[in-house]
Amino acid sequence: MIPYGRQSVDQGDIDAVVEVLRSDWLTTGPKVPEFEDALKRYTGAENAVVVNSGTSALDLAVQALDLPEGTEVITTPFTFAATANALLYHKILPVFADIEPETRNIDPDEIRKKITDRTRAVICVDFAGHPCDYSAIRDITREHGLYLIEDACHALGAEHHATKIGSLADMTIFSFHPVKHITTGEGGAITLDDPKVTAKLRLLRSHGIDRDARSRYGLESSWSYDMTDLGRNYRMTDFQAALGISQLKKLDQFVARRNAIAARYQELLGSLPFVTVPRTKPHVRHAWHLYTILLDPSIDRQEFFTFMKKGGIGVNVHYIPVYRHSYYREHFLFRQEDYPVTENVFSRIVTLPLYPGMTDEDVDTVVSRLRKFFGKRG
Ligand SMILES: *Cc1c(COP(=O)(O)O)cnc(C)c1O
Repeated sequence: MIPYGRQSVDQGDIDAVVEVLRSDWLTTGPKVPEFEDALKRYTGAENAVVVNSGTSALDLAVQALDLPEGTEVITTPFTFAATANALLYHKILPVFADIEPETRNIDPDEIRKKITDRTRAVICVDFAGHPCDYSAIRDITREHGLYLIEDACHALGAEHHATKIGSLADMTIFSFHPVKHITTGEGGAITLDDPKVTAKLRLLRSHGIDRDARSRYGLESSWSYDMTDLGRNYRMTDFQAALGISQLKKLDQFVARRNAIAARYQELLGSLPFVTVPRTKPHVRHAWHLYTILLDPSIDRQEFFTFMKKGGIGVNVHYIPVYRHSYYREHFLFRQEDYPVTENVFSRIVTLPLYPGMTDEDVDTVVSRLRKFFGKRG
């Protein structure tokens, strides 16, 4: 079985984790700030706050905006549910804007159409690792005074006009789940410049409790602390951070390998009938979290899917549009027909396996199985 994605963990990673397990600190030790420093250096952001998942990172980012209940935030429906769920935790209304057909990223013109006087922010997603159109999106957010959160869970290591993902939006969200570019088991991060928001995120990560607060008990009392915000326990452990530090050193290698695999797919699939391969805009460095193809509308996707699975190929579908989930259907009134591009892409898209440990032979195995399916129909 060739899975659609998987981690690459080597002896160096294992040694890094074991070293922490033998130390005094399993959590909240020196490795967490060290990982944050490494992320800052890599992304070029002024600050980084690591947490226990990408979902937690999204949750805290939205909480840090302090938006009143009922506020609207514009986001993409073509993403993992966690992106929009982060708004629901805080009683903020997700407003979905349709996507661009080629990149499957939120369409800047559709964002414009969805702005009302209750809109306060935009959350965009760099689908599959292809950065959104930040020139256009930044123009819109500046013009309307909107906050921009970038869900870059697919895009660690990507670049937009030679700028690394991580410093383009007001806050950028990463995930370190095993299928993502680097892993800490579960884990996530927020990168940003604003020092005030950074302090708030650190507070919210750990119960909203401030140990440095010069509290009402006076400076001398070492037992003193104060809870100033309604936070959570979203802390990352030190052994996870050690794994993250070790993994981050290999990120460029991982992204290079992902690019090489994607290039091989492009070459082998680019001229096949019934299949449309993804396109990359010239000004981006793609991080290739996912390699997706679009099947011709005449092809039965379920039939293709079953055929590939039977051949041991771990195909997948990313994503079921968020408004289609039953929770969203029960609680909101989104209509599929309002998102024609999302619906069209969703009905035809298939994710093929892609991860750094995949060999060229694995790619060829996927392609020959795929060719066999289409060979049957001449
Ligand atoms: C993976 C992912 C998340 C959630 O990250 P977790 O670390 O699994 O919580 C959020 N958004 C997108 C687009 C993702 O791909």
